[in-house]
Amino acid sequence: MIVEHNVPLQPYNSFGIVARAQHLVRIASGDDVLALHADAQWRDSPRFVLGGGSNIVLTGDVKPLVLKVEIKGRRLVEETPRAWIVEVGAGENWHETVEWTVDNGFPGLENLALIPGTVGGSPVQNIGAYGIELQDRFESLDAIALDTGRAFTLDAAQCAFGYRDSVAATASAWPAAR
Ligand SMILES: Cc1cc2nc3c(=O)[nH]c(=O)nc-3n(C[C@H](O)[C@H](O)[C@H](O)COP(=O)(O)OP(=O)(O)OC[C@H]3O[C@@H](n4cnc5c(N)ncnc54)[C@H](O)[C@@H]3O)c2cc1C
Repeated sequence: MIVEHNVPLQPYNSFGIVARAQHLVRIASGDDVLALHADAQWRDSPRFVLGGGSNIVLTGDVKPLVLKVEIKGRRLVEETPRAWIVEVGAGENWHETVEWTVDNGFPGLENLALIPGTVGGSPVQNIGAYGIELQDRFESLDAIALDTGRAFTLDAAQCAFGYRDSVAATASAWPAAR
């Protein structure tokens, strides 16, 4: 696990606010989360999960350990009579992912095109536009609890999606992680 220090965050937030992360770890896989959990120095540190930085306003340098989510990958998992089930890494850009679905003949996400941010950020506030929300197209998410290192899956009901809201919007509310 590589911890970077004094990292400029200006490129990592939509408003381009000038701020620095005192400490930052790039999360490129679930194994990186497990490595963090196994690291005695950083395991219990306060931390902040950063996606595309399009729904945050930085008010100064960030003291908690910044976990910058950079998990990549997109694939078709299954084609059913009703839907195409695709799996996408949390660090993928949301709009580019919508473009990828269109290019590959998996329609359904077009109304959510051009929303800034990452795929991992999309369920946090149940992104929505032009009459649909993520919850209308959502199958499930895979996650790892930062405090226990336990992997878990949440379906749409467990995400408790609401208007620009979900269980993930309240950091302490991830019930399936406990
Ligand atoms: C110009 C503009 C237009 C927008 N238009 C829309 C719109 O039409 N509809 C709409 O719904 N929203 C819109 N938004 C809001 C924004 O696009 C969404 O909230 C987006 O989903 C944020 O994703 P992000 O990756 O940038 O998250 P960030 O801003 O990085 O983080 C937001 C929150 O999610 C958490 N988070 C991020 N990634 C993860 C992860 N992998 N795991 C756990 N927690 C995570 C962060 O800790 C933070 O609490 C707009 C924003 C801008 C700047």
